[in-house]
Amino acid sequence: MNHERSRELYDRALSVSPGGVNSSVRATMPHPFFVERGDGGHVIDADGNRYVDWVMGYGPLLYGHDLPDPVESAVQSHAAAGPMYGAPTEIEVEHAEFVSRHVPSVESIRFVNSGTEATVSAVRLARGHTGRDKIVVMQGGYHGAQESTLVEGGPENPQPSTAGIPEEFAEHTLPIPFNDPQTVKEVFAEHGDDIAAVLVEPILANTGIVMPVDGYHETLRDLCDDHGALLIFDEVITGFRVGGLGCAQSKFGVTPDVTTFGKIIGGGFPVGAIGGRADVIEGFTPSGDVFQSGTFSGHPVTMAAGKATLEYAAENDVYEHVNRLGRKLREGITDICAERAPEYTVVGTDSMFKTVFTRETPVDAEAGCAGGCRQDSDCGRYDACPKTGADVAAAETDRWERVFWQEMKDRGVFLTANQFECQFTSYAHTEADVEKTLDAYREAI
Ligand SMILES: *Cc1c(COP(=O)(O)O)cnc(C)c1O
Repeated sequence: MNHERSRELYDRALSVSPGGVNSSVRATMPHPFFVERGDGGHVIDADGNRYVDWVMGYGPLLYGHDLPDPVESAVQSHAAAGPMYGAPTEIEVEHAEFVSRHVPSVESIRFVNSGTEATVSAVRLARGHTGRDKIVVMQGGYHGAQESTLVEGGPENPQPSTAGIPEEFAEHTLPIPFNDPQTVKEVFAEHGDDIAAVLVEPILANTGIVMPVDGYHETLRDLCDDHGALLIFDEVITGFRVGGLGCAQSKFGVTPDVTTFGKIIGGGFPVGAIGGRADVIEGFTPSGDVFQSGTFSGHPVTMAAGKATLEYAAENDVYEHVNRLGRKLREGITDICAERAPEYTVVGTDSMFKTVFTRETPVDAEAGCAGGCRQDSDCGRYDACPKTGADVAAAETDRWERVFWQEMKDRGVFLTANQFECQFTSYAHTEADVEKTLDAYREAI
């Protein structure tokens, strides 16, 4: 594969952009390939190389790179009418109505421009609503590039996880291990009166993927209720991907007070949203006193793309298709690992998949949840499968990034560039894409 033009473009990019990219995960080694265009479930790079694309923009693309006709025409007609106004439009109301009809916990919703903006606003809203400062987050959870959640360590010693955040900010965040009911109970016993909210991805989707153990979300729900804190589900990735139009909360049967959305809800355009109980969401200005505002919020083109995307999914076999291909990939990779790398754990659900390069071969290497780890306590791999962000971080992360990812790319398969981010099937992917990908896994794993 020739990468001459991508290398030249990266050279130019390095002169004008930090690290040559606009989002840090894109700076793959030794240099990223630059995309020229998409085609169904594939991307074609600047040198004309074609890849099966399982990155899907890191989550927003439910249809791959070719929008269904109604989505494309909705986007084009709203773009042609003039991009935006600074006054409300009908399409914002329609999109909000659609979401609140399909996600029972959402009675009211505010649209913003990114997942980060959604979680920033949700944290401010929870603090304003409760008059408390502390936020409980999961170690290894990801809520975008924001001050309150870029925090590492434990509840006793929270520290900023990046330069540029004052230590005093981190003191208001309580990071705990996912899937550990004992620790969260202890944290509530000690800090319950100061906790504004628990902010949690229903599935750790930016570290792993890690599914919740039985009863974990119910424990969070009960603790929040008992202590007057809000339960915020960050469904920026899982929203309208896991559990279909009802989102992960419907799959798990747990009702959060507030949900943050992003990615698919904007149909491939920049988006975020904060939805939930009306009495909580109405805490935002102008109905409430928690300031929230945005020049581009509820952008008509984004609203049109998002609403047409979800409507098309409601009327066609979209989730059936993407979930079937997801399952095929997870089952196929499970068979390959059983033969070549029995220590690895295949993870994911619905249209998400990943392989965690865990180091320890379980006693019962033959066992395993069919179609990806579900944290089944009767499974022979249960004690070895990753349950926390730390478990995933302890895997062979360098091997993914420096060897495996490169080998898959050389075989024309584009995966997420590190061990932590998940991968996605789309409506545009085909059985042939799955076969080609499994052939490449068989050689590269
Ligand atoms: C992607 C993501 C975010 C951040 O969204 P951006 O649009 O990148 O700001 C927040 N939370 C979760 C769970 C995400 O997956």
